[in-house]
Amino acid sequence: MSNTSVGKVLKGIGASKGIGIGRIFILQDFDSLINRKAVPDKPESELLRYRAAKDRVLFHFGLVAALIFKELGPGKGNILDVHALILQDRGLNQEIELLIHNGKKAEVAVETIFNEISERQKLAKNEYLKERFTVARDIGRQLVIELLGAHRLEVVKGKGDVIVVARALTPFALAEYPVNIKGFAVETGGLTGHAAILARAYNIPMVLGIPNIETAMENGNQAVLNGATGELIVNPPSELLTYSIGLRDMELAVKAKVRPENTSPETKDGHRVALLMNIETTRSLNTADTYGADGVGLFRSEFLFMHKETLPTEEEQFREFEKVAKALYPRKVVIRTLDFGGDKQFPAVLETGNGAAYPGLRGIRYCLAHEELFKTHLRAILRAGASGNVSMMFPMVPGLETFRKAKALLKNTIKTLESEGVRLGKTMPVGIMIEVPSAALMAGALARESDFFSIGTNDLLQYTLGIDREDSSYSDYGIFLPPSIIQLIQLVVESVHIKKKLVAVCGELAHHTMVLPLLIGLGVDELSMDASHIPSTRQAIRALSYAECQELAKKALTLETPEEVKILLKGVLDKLLVKCGHP
Ligand code: PEP
Ligand code: MG
Repeated sequence: MSNTSVGKVLKGIGASKGIGIGRIFILQDFDSLINRKAVPDKPESELLRYRAAKDRVLFHFGLVAALIFKELGPGKGNILDVHALILQDRGLNQEIELLIHNGKKAEVAVETIFNEISERQKLAKNEYLKERFTVARDIGRQLVIELLGAHRLEVVKGKGDVIVVARALTPFALAEYPVNIKGFAVETGGLTGHAAILARAYNIPMVLGIPNIETAMENGNQAVLNGATGELIVNPPSELLTYSIGLRDMELAVKAKVRPENTSPETKDGHRVALLMNIETTRSLNTADTYGADGVGLFRSEFLFMHKETLPTEEEQFREFEKVAKALYPRKVVIRTLDFGGDKQFPAVLETGNGAAYPGLRGIRYCLAHEELFKTHLRAILRAGASGNVSMMFPMVPGLETFRKAKALLKNTIKTLESEGVRLGKTMPVGIMIEVPSAALMAGALARESDFFSIGTNDLLQYTLGIDREDSSYSDYGIFLPPSIIQLIQLVVESVHIKKKLVAVCGELAHHTMVLPLLIGLGVDELSMDASHIPSTRQAIRALSYAECQELAKKALTLETPEEVKILLKGVLDKLLVKCGHP
């Protein structure tokens, strides 16, 4: 019997605005999925399963920390450093692994050890230890959820519009949500929690803090979720439902009105800088028109592999690439070949025993060491290139020799496809990313053989200075832009322009308004960034003079410390902001 009366209003806290309408889908709580009596066949494979799950959770912490940084600025994601440290604690891992070795299922071992920690810390009187207790409980929960493959939101696919209801929601689950999810109602979690941050980033309505949520409704109940007022109305009366549909449609119409200005990203003296977008999945494609992107400057194709237990087939990859190419046509789409490794560790790769190391076997090196995987990937990109607007770009190229090896493999793959009678279209431009100093220093030689270039400042900074790109003290270019990076960019631009080819910047540096006049002055032809930054960058470009930017670049090239760079760029930024109407 239903315990849900008509028009039951449940009150929580609005965590992400918007109206969501759909049928209730209750995510089963993971506790009930743990089979505590099961005995694994082989402790060794159980150990591998545990380690792979741990790596995935760690990877996810990095991903969420980056999102928090983007939304809340430096410092706020630091709690995740504590999470990561606990998760990597040697003693803790030894205890868990010992239990697994002695015949426990991985999830049971994790639960046991984290429960023990929680019990010990519950007795603690001091606030610091209590906080640690909460953190430990969260980590244990995330690990178990990951091991069980629970809270994977794919389960709602094909079920029509749904409002997902859960006692707790991990941000990991949210990282790849099916589009038929129209809202989240959750019992636990805070406004600045990672799940809430992701919901806001993805524009999905969310309400948190509804007590006893799972027993307050049933699967399939009609519901209206209001992320602004923090209400979940279960089985709304028909007038309220009609009113809510109207309200939702009005909100969507207002959002759709945000059209790109009909203006070109051109300086006052007529110098155009193309503005392209960086994408990780096909989900963000619709923002290309909203923000007026000139194309895709960087498709981080490795994200297609992110949650997959097995590597995607050629056909699966092809379909994704083709979707992007068609959606953007005739604008260009630069597909970067797989950049596994470093901070990008992927379950499917780890589980095939092909683990990519940090920083050695990363990017193009990893691919060249795994030819079959790489060929499948190349075939998919080449086939998508039949539309005529696709370019291919290799990541982490250290120099000419590696680039030539990659091109030779590409040539062979093209030959094979042609012999199979596959239609490929015109010759696909092939470019490289400049992410390591050795590539920047060899830009002259590389420019003879590569069709175009894109400077990945995230890694270039990391590898030039020997710092960790995850360290937030180095990631704000408004505060820290070392002269060595300016020199390297200048060297690359000059070497590439001599060969009459184009050079882009696609690292995070590309959208920093403070650095924009410098990049333009150095001669960078294209900037590729998260699409949401395009309108403000366009506005800033239109307020600048190319001649003045060139003067600025000349001056910047004489500077010797990040502090000097900061003072110079800050002076220019202040004037620029006034011109753009932000005194
Ligand atoms: C970069 O290194 O600047 C870049 C764009 O590549 P990724 O951030 O994907 O490593
Ligand atoms: Mg990179």
